[in-house]
Amino acid sequence: MENERVRILEEVAREVASCRKCRLWSSRMKPVPGQGDVYADVMLVGEAPGYNEDVEGRPFVGAAGKFLDKLLEMAGFRRDEVFITNILKCRPPGNRDPLPDEVDACTPYLDKQVAVIKPKLIVCLGRYSTNYILLKGGVKTYRGRISTVRGQVFKINFEDLSLLVVPTYHPAAGLYNPKLKNMLINDFILIGKVVRGIRERGVDV
Ligand code: SF4
Repeated sequence: MENERVRILEEVAREVASCRKCRLWSSRMKPVPGQGDVYADVMLVGEAPGYNEDVEGRPFVGAAGKFLDKLLEMAGFRRDEVFITNILKCRPPGNRDPLPDEVDACTPYLDKQVAVIKPKLIVCLGRYSTNYILLKGGVKTYRGRISTVRGQVFKINFEDLSLLVVPTYHPAAGLYNPKLKNMLINDFILIGKVVRGIRERGVDV
């Protein structure tokens, strides 16, 4: 079964590598499909690759990635026991915000990754990830403002899976803003507690 998961995720990575469903294929250096444990019970979903990710083809490898590693450590995880990906698999030029048609074109890849990995918890890093996952999960109270939902635990249905979601800020937002940095630290401490609860009792925490 592990081989089947690896096979499907590698197939997704190949599809991403040859994808031309939106304009971003023409300006990227390397596609960044995602990386991590195929059996991860935690998936982290960011916004889009930045410069360093575009060069290396791996998610969260720059300064924000180093901060994410520290946040994961505070939550009690190693990077290799989670799966990390983004809403967009190719870098928008100059790190501009994703456009709606790019999100529409690219998120079927994320949906497929979620369906294969079957995480118990998705951590949304930033507003694009939060918008996509909470709205797809039918959270009707969400009005598009991440500040109103960060650090909260939502139970949703996503791709026929029942799972928990915790939205928080993108780690890059905490690099130069001490207030957001503290919020990120608090949210990841909460995420660690939630995951320990899931491992003991399942998603009904
Ligand atoms: S961003 Fe996504 S949809 Fe656009 S070209 Fe890259 S893989 Fe395809």
